[in-house]
Amino acid sequence: MIFYQADERLLTIIIFITIEHMIKEKIYVIGHKSPDTDTVCSAIAYAEFLKKKKLNAIPVIAGEINSETKFVLDYFKIKKPSKLESIKGKKVILVDHNETAQSPDGAEEAEIIEIIDHHKIGCTFDQPINFQTKPLGSTSTLVAQRMLADKFKITRPLAGILLSAILSDTVIFKSSTTTPEDIKEFGIEVKKKKSDLRGLSAEKIVCSDFKIFQEGEVKFGIGQVEMVDLTEIKKRKTELLSAMEKVMLGEKAVFLILMMTDIMNEGSELLVSGDASYLAKALKKDIKDNSVYAKGMMSRKKDLVPLLVGAIN
Ligand code: MN
Ligand code: MN
Repeated sequence: MIFYQADERLLTIIIFITIEHMIKEKIYVIGHKSPDTDTVCSAIAYAEFLKKKKLNAIPVIAGEINSETKFVLDYFKIKKPSKLESIKGKKVILVDHNETAQSPDGAEEAEIIEIIDHHKIGCTFDQPINFQTKPLGSTSTLVAQRMLADKFKITRPLAGILLSAILSDTVIFKSSTTTPEDIKEFGIEVKKKKSDLRGLSAEKIVCSDFKIFQEGEVKFGIGQVEMVDLTEIKKRKTELLSAMEKVMLGEKAVFLILMMTDIMNEGSELLVSGDASYLAKALKKDIKDNSVYAKGMMSRKKDLVPLLVGAIN
């Protein structure tokens, strides 16, 4: 019995070490030779994404970076990846290329586990691998899409380098390889920067894009924030409502609305302080706990104001 228990313990330890080893095994994320901005930045961003998935992913480069890429990395204060002379015997993910002729040295003897690329397919493998390809303007677009699909929190510097890479590969959207999706990703990244509310007071959020309207006797105000995700802002509801109350009193308005527009899901969560009856009438909806969701509502000017004007009159 004692032996049996000892064996069991040993087995647990072995399993633990094996899992640890699997988790810790280095995976190099690397682009093509003569690296360009897309190759370097998509590798950095994708490695960062995989790290959040507890993989030991390391971005590396196959040669010296060019001055454009240096500018981008310096600008966003991102460390230049180290150079890997050969990927022979290493576990790797290839980005921004798939033909081994363009790969770093030793590719024939590397363990290629995944490819993310936007070039024509020019490779075959003996083993099944993860291969993600789309005819888009840049690999960074693919990486950004992957992150967005996973609701991965893209930090400012990461958004910055991805955006730079998209701009670089599409020659500022002028290249014939640019697709509407690249532009969409670009827009999302820009909005993402705008929707980063960290460090902003509730009052700043309410007033950052705020307008006062006067309809007959009724004075009201509407603030709007455009977000790629409403999770964070919703957590600040109480704080926002008291800031709105303050602004409303200061403006001597009858009611105040904060339109929290979810640009990804195309709709707005509306917070209301003061007399909520106009908004209820405008949307033909009950308002519970000072808030209501309006599906499809994106524009203050086109979607909300006309309904309120109708409700007031
Ligand atoms: Mn490239
Ligand atoms: Mn590219």
